[in-house]
Amino acid sequence: MTKPNIAIIGGGVAGLTAAVYASRANASVTIFEKYGLGGLTATIDKIENFPTYNVVNGFDLTQNLANQVKLLGANIVLEQVLDVKKQADGTFEVVTNKQNYLFDAVIVATGTKHGKLGIESNYVGKGVSYCATCDGNFYRNADVAVVGNTNSAVKEALYLAGLCKTVYLIYNGNLQGDEVAIGQLKGYANVQFVSNSVVTGLVGDDFLEGAVVHNVEDGTSTSLAVEGLFVAVGSKPETEFLAGIGAQMVNGFVMVDDRCQTSVEGLFGAGDVTNGTLKQIVTACGDGAKAGSFAVVYAKKLLASR
Ligand SMILES: Cc1cc2nc3c(=O)[nH]c(=O)nc-3n(C[C@H](O)[C@H](O)[C@H](O)COP(=O)(O)OP(=O)(O)OC[C@H]3O[C@@H](n4cnc5c(N)ncnc54)[C@H](O)[C@@H]3O)c2cc1C
Repeated sequence: MTKPNIAIIGGGVAGLTAAVYASRANASVTIFEKYGLGGLTATIDKIENFPTYNVVNGFDLTQNLANQVKLLGANIVLEQVLDVKKQADGTFEVVTNKQNYLFDAVIVATGTKHGKLGIESNYVGKGVSYCATCDGNFYRNADVAVVGNTNSAVKEALYLAGLCKTVYLIYNGNLQGDEVAIGQLKGYANVQFVSNSVVTGLVGDDFLEGAVVHNVEDGTSTSLAVEGLFVAVGSKPETEFLAGIGAQMVNGFVMVDDRCQTSVEGLFGAGDVTNGTLKQIVTACGDGAKAGSFAVVYAKKLLASR
């Protein structure tokens, strides 16, 4: 019998885990990745909540997973997917920036992209960053700020606390994130919590020199002298390329059922890109396992019916 031909879009932990399960179910697997395997997880310095390890570096974790996928024989295509179309016979056409491919089933595991403040475009790469692990080293012993109340903001501030002179954590609303991480952050003498506050302006000639911070409770605004501002204000799903296929979405996230099947038969979703609630590595891997398994079940049935 012909092997089912499965496309996985996105080479983060969700996509890579889907590849492990689909390959082991005897499918022919192609992963499309626009940057490099590992996704967001590869940029995390310390992961302390992935079962098995007390602490593990994100790059090391994803390298191991990518090696496992390569050993299983998955085909890795470093191209960006621009469109996915379903044809009358059930076959999916995947359109990339280079060429078109045909598959029996498709798994979308494209994760999210970082949210923006909307005022930082002049300073991106000149003081404003979206990744402390990637850029933190440029700000050794400097005064920096992290803006956002998300779990990611807490993680970014924790990483910078060990490198920088002062870290201001500017946030509005309740600080999210796990209690252990927030507790660790409170243990750093160089971290200052700037609550009930938002960043309303950035100053500096060529490079960032400061941020205007507005306290939403008392209405005052102050200037903080910082060389670095790390933005961690949430994220948006990477789903623009699905606009034409008509899968059901909620706020741009792909709706999936408990088998990670979307509303389009044969199209599956896994990881941060879905409507799933807890956006973590372990849940992305769990989704990948389901999507990889059920995509093969679907494709085998499709092939048997032809
Ligand atoms: C600062 C920070 C710290 C975190 N710390 C932790 C932690 O300690 N523990 C934890 O469990 N979770 C943590 N997370 C969350 C975790 O990183 C995510 O839940 C996880 O990475 C989701 O994996 P994913 O595979 O769904 O998506 P991603 O990792 O985002 O991977 C998606 C992949 O798809 C690719 N892609 C996107 N669009 C296309 C396209 N059109 N064509 C081809 N490829 C495409 C992207 O390049 C990317 O490689 C953290 C997140 C952040 C931001």
